[in-house]
Amino acid sequence: MSSDSMSHPTAATPVVIPASRAVLWLAGTALIALAIYYFVGVDQGAVSVFGNNTLIHEFVHDGRHFLGFPCH
Ligand SMILES: [Zn+2]
Repeated sequence: MSSDSMSHPTAATPVVIPASRAVLWLAGTALIALAIYYFVGVDQGAVSVFGNNTLIHEFVHDGRHFLGFPCH
């Protein structure tokens, strides 16, 4: 054990991933975030691009009002 690890016993080890995988994680996270944003803030049920059901709209309806998105 080196003296550095002795002086910082609780120091976290950085997670190192290749840039190609980092790009995948960033793109995937952004895509999921945009999908959540769409379903909570934009999707109205009647003009939904995923069919004519209001299931998702009803599910996120309270969150939509809580976050201040225009609704009805
Ligand atoms: Zn509403």
